Amino acid sequence: MSSFITKLKNEIDTSSLIIDKFEMAKYITDWPGKITGDALAVLRPQNTTEVSKMLAMAYEYRIPVVPQGGNTSVAGGSVPDDTGTSVVISLERMNKIRDISLSAMTITVEAGCILEKLQEIAEDKGLFFPLNFGAKGSCMIGGNLATNAGGQNVVRYGNTRELCLGLEAVFSDGRVMNLLSGLRKDNTGYDLRDLLIGSEGTLAIITAATMKLFHLPIERSTTIAVIPDIDTGLELLNRVQSATGSAVEAFELIPRVFLELVKKHAPQFQMPFPKIPELCVLIEIAPTTPQISNGTEAMENNAQEQLEIILEAGVNDGLILDAVIASSEAQRREMWEMRENALEIITKEGNRIGFDISLPLNKVQAFVKEMEYRAGSLVKNLRMCHMGHLGDGNLHYAIFPPEGNSDALNSKSEEIKTAVYEAVSSFDGSFSAEHGIGTSKLFAMNNYKDPVALDIMQQIKMKLDPKNIMNPGKLLP
Ligand SMILES: Cc1cc2nc3c(=O)[nH]c(=O)nc-3n(C[C@H](O)[C@H](O)[C@H](O)COP(=O)(O)OP(=O)(O)OC[C@H]3O[C@@H](n4cnc5c(N)ncnc54)[C@H](O)[C@@H]3O)c2cc1C
Repeated sequence: MSSFITKLKNEIDTSSLIIDKFEMAKYITDWPGKITGDALAVLRPQNTTEVSKMLAMAYEYRIPVVPQGGNTSVAGGSVPDDTGTSVVISLERMNKIRDISLSAMTITVEAGCILEKLQEIAEDKGLFFPLNFGAKGSCMIGGNLATNAGGQNVVRYGNTRELCLGLEAVFSDGRVMNLLSGLRKDNTGYDLRDLLIGSEGTLAIITAATMKLFHLPIERSTTIAVIPDIDTGLELLNRVQSATGSAVEAFELIPRVFLELVKKHAPQFQMPFPKIPELCVLIEIAPTTPQISNGTEAMENNAQEQLEIILEAGVNDGLILDAVIASSEAQRREMWEMRENALEIITKEGNRIGFDISLPLNKVQAFVKEMEYRAGSLVKNLRMCHMGHLGDGNLHYAIFPPEGNSDALNSKSEEIKTAVYEAVSSFDGSFSAEHGIGTSKLFAMNNYKDPVALDIMQQIKMKLDPKNIMNPGKLLP
């Protein structure tokens, strides 16, 4: 190992190498602060050639490599284990914009480009990059691709996978693959771009990507609406989609338990209703044309009027019990900040069992009811928080102990986890919707992933990473 460090010192730029333990600290601890690993070194390449050189050296010396972007993973994938035998390769210095085309509506960026920066660059050009979620100020496009990140706009634009036209990547032996042509059609065999998206750094390091850009919405209008139940919420979603020409940009489920935590831990946010309701949805519409249909004819309206018409009809038909529309950009931002801070707010409550699951849309309500019954029979008065991106059937499902009895979960936590995973499986859902597997869901991967799919994934891994140096111990059990 010392000969590996000597070789690194001799062959790479000194600014690309960190071996001081103090300087390494932020790269070896994960965002939730639950995992602190150790590393031989942190490498910070400035371009693809340097990444290739570093991987070729790691390959020669069989040194495990942990690729890292913004280190906002909540699944434990972005940090090394505690053996101190691996290197972190941080893409943070590879943040150049290589190309932007207004006619092709594409942008080619290096992997270390921060998501929020990419959004701003697109907007400066009058276009829109829709991937969006709470970690946008820190997470990077390479990490977004490696985890196939989702977030609040998936209902309209899809996951990161759907936003990507091509990528450049370096494999474990240092070979560089360039698929950056930005083609919208390319049927030349197996789709290696799709193979690397969601591979969590276990097959290659993504060094650059060509991403789609979209037309900037002319306006946005946002509401928090109280709904009687989840199925009615879905009826409302379809109605808003139909009336706005599929302009629903976000459709987020907010249950009572979350609003109670907001009141307790983030009182700076104003409660949308005087009495905390049982269930709400945060809806944002963002039309790119001023047209709305009232069922028979197209009418010109601004986004706020469109939303008011839809909400009024929803109230009359019993789909909505109450609603507030953001009357200013400041009020809209406040609604979103409350939503985007959900993870921090939930974390402040302490002891919980958390899941990132997805379900077919028409089975979300049945799952929630089933879990109330199953978990409720294990521990009385649990607080079940089915927060999530309802528009894509993704729940960030959290189970808290009864108020004032935080130890009540501890002895039953394994049984509760098993009950959730079994219920997810029985409703044809997935135990990882958007955060990935990392180290935190290896148990579920072993027990609930289709065994043939898992075996084929392991064979692909062995073929592409024969020395098992690419983020070992992550994603695959
Ligand atoms: C407050 C908060 C809110 C969040 N909300 C959401 C949400 O709504 N939706 C969602 O999907 N996620 C969410 N996340 C999770 C996280 O932000 C995403 O997974 C994000 O895509 C990770 O990007 P990153 O650059 O931080 O990657 P990292 O955390 O650095 O890495 C994540 C994984 O990707 C690998 N990796 C990173 N860069 C590369 C690369 N260039 N090549 C190959 N592999 C690489 C790492 O090895 C690791 O396995 C949230 C996180 C936080 C802290």
